[in-house]
Amino acid sequence: MSFRQPRFPAMPPRAAEEAARVVVVGAGLVGLTAALDLARRGVPVVVVDDDDTVSVGSRAICFAKRTLEIYGRLGLGARFLEKGVTWKVGRVFHRDRETYSFDLLPEEGHEYPAFVNLQQYYAEAWLVEACTETGLVDLRWRHAVTGIENGAQAVRLAVETPFGAYALHADWVLACDGARSFLRRALGLRFEGQVFQDRFLIADVRMQADFPAERWFWFDPPFHPGQSVLLHKQPDDLWRIDFQLGWDADPEAEKDPARVSARIAAMLGPGRPFELEWVSIYTFRCRRMERFRHGRTIFLGDAAHQVSPFGARGGNGGVQDADNLCWKLAAVLSGEAPESLLDSYDAERIPAADENILHSTRATDFITPKNEAARAYRDAVLELAARYAFARPFVNSGRLSRPYLGYGEPAPDAPILRQGRPDWLLRHIGADGGFTLLARGEAAETGIRTLIIGRDIEDHSGLIAERYRLAEGEAVLIRPDQHICARLPARERDAILSARARVLGR
Ligand SMILES: Cc1cc2nc3c(=O)[nH]c(=O)nc-3n(C[C@H](O)[C@H](O)[C@H](O)COP(=O)(O)OP(=O)(O)OC[C@H]3O[C@@H](n4cnc5c(N)ncnc54)[C@H](O)[C@@H]3O)c2cc1C
Repeated sequence: MSFRQPRFPAMPPRAAEEAARVVVVGAGLVGLTAALDLARRGVPVVVVDDDDTVSVGSRAICFAKRTLEIYGRLGLGARFLEKGVTWKVGRVFHRDRETYSFDLLPEEGHEYPAFVNLQQYYAEAWLVEACTETGLVDLRWRHAVTGIENGAQAVRLAVETPFGAYALHADWVLACDGARSFLRRALGLRFEGQVFQDRFLIADVRMQADFPAERWFWFDPPFHPGQSVLLHKQPDDLWRIDFQLGWDADPEAEKDPARVSARIAAMLGPGRPFELEWVSIYTFRCRRMERFRHGRTIFLGDAAHQVSPFGARGGNGGVQDADNLCWKLAAVLSGEAPESLLDSYDAERIPAADENILHSTRATDFITPKNEAARAYRDAVLELAARYAFARPFVNSGRLSRPYLGYGEPAPDAPILRQGRPDWLLRHIGADGGFTLLARGEAAETGIRTLIIGRDIEDHSGLIAERYRLAEGEAVLIRPDQHICARLPARERDAILSARARVLGR
C-alpha cells in the first residue's frame, strides 16, 4: 500500500459531563471540512468519531473545481494540485469503439482545473493535520455517539469511548455521520428515495499503465459484455475501475480476488501486470432527508443526502454543504446574524441536493436500463452519438459535479497581478472569513474588505472584465462562501450595508 493508514489514539473523557459550543459528529470528509472551516473562522469545535482512522479505499476520488476552490480558501488547495491527477477530458466508448469525447473546462485562467483525482484518504489525512494545526479543533477518536436529546436550548449527546461513557452538551451539533447516520435514525427522521437494482464492483488497481489522465467510460465493451465500466487515474500508479455487475450478481463471490483479477485481465489484455489494492461491491441509492436543519442539529453530507457515484456528486456535494453552513453558523455564534439565518441552509442546500439526485438518478437510469425499451433507446442514442453531434447530449455516463447556481454564482476566478506579482483573484475573496466587495472605480468606506480593480489588483488578462462585466462605479458583494449576492453602485454605502444585512438575515 502506498498510503499508510494512520491510527489515531483514543483519549479518555475529561469529565462525566462536558460542554462545547459546536460538536461535529463524524470525522469523515464532510465533518473534517466543516470543523476546519469553523476553526478558520475562529470557532472552537469538538469532533467525535467512532473510528480511529481516515477513509479505507479510494471512495470519493473526483474533486470538482468548486470543491478545490473551497479547499483553496481553507489553505489546502496547493496540496490537492501537487498530489492529485488533474484532468478535464472524458471519453465515452460503445462496444469496441470511441463514441465521442468531452472537455469539462475548455477555457484558461482558473487556478483550479475541472477535476483533480485523489483518494479520499489523502484528503481526510490532510484535513486532520490542518484541523490539528489550528489549535481550535478537539478531535476525539473512538468516541461514538450513542444517544441524542435534541433540546430547544441545547443538545445532549451520549458518547461511548473505550475508557467509559460521558455526556457532551452542545449549543449546536453538525451531524456528519455518513449515509447510515446514527443521529438521523435516533431522531426518527426519514431518508427517502430510490435504490437502484444493480451492483457495482469497485476496485483500486496498482499498475504501470499508459492510459492518459482522462475519464474513460465504456458501454457494453467486448471485455465486459452487456455491462458498463469506468476507469479513472489516481496518484501512486493506482487506477480506479468500476464494473457494473447486474442485480443478480452474488456480492460475496464477486469479491473473490481471482474473479476480480480475471475481469481486470480481460480489460487490460495480456502481459499487463497489476495488483489489487481494494475491492468493494456497492448498490447505489439516491435519497435525502426532508429537511436538513432540525433545531440545533443540522445534517450535512451523506447523512443528509446520498447519490450514486456517477457524476462525483456525493463528496463534492457534502463539502459544498459545509461551505454553505459554516460561515452562517459562525455569524450566528458571533451575534452578527440571527439564528434564522440557519434556515437559509435548508433553503439553499436542499435544492442543491435535489439537483445532484436528479442528475445522478438520470445517469444511473441511462447506465443501467431497467427494461428492453430503455436499453433500445440507450443503444440507439449511443449509435447515433458516434456519428452525429446532436445525439451526444442524450448520452449520460454521469453529468459531472458542478456548483448549484440557485443561490448565486460562485465568484469566478481570474489571474491577477497584486503588487506587481502574478496571483489569483479567488485567493483574496473571503480570505478573511467575511464579505468582500469587488469594485471598479472608487468605492464607499463600509468596513467590508474591498478590492478595487486597478488599485489593489490589476486585471492584466482582462478576464475579470470578461467574467464580472462590471461597469465603472459598479461593485459586486460576495458572501464569505465566495458566492456573489449583490451587484450595486460602488459608492452607495447604505445600499451595500443593507445588502449585507439582508444576506445575514437581519
Ligand atoms: C465506492 C464509492 C465511490 C465514491 N466515489 C465518489 C466520487 O468519485 N466523488 C464524490 O464526490 N463522492 C464519491 N463517493 C461518495 C463519498 O465517498 C461520500 O459522499 C463522502 O464520503 C461523504 O462524506 P461524509 O463525511 O458525509 O460521510 P463519511 O465519509 O461516511 O463519514 C462519516 C463519519 O462518521 C463517523 N460516524 C458514523 N457514525 C458515528 C457515530 N455514531 N459516532 C461518531 N462517529 C460516527 C464514521 O466513522 C465516519 O468517519 C463515493 C462513495 C463510495 C462508497
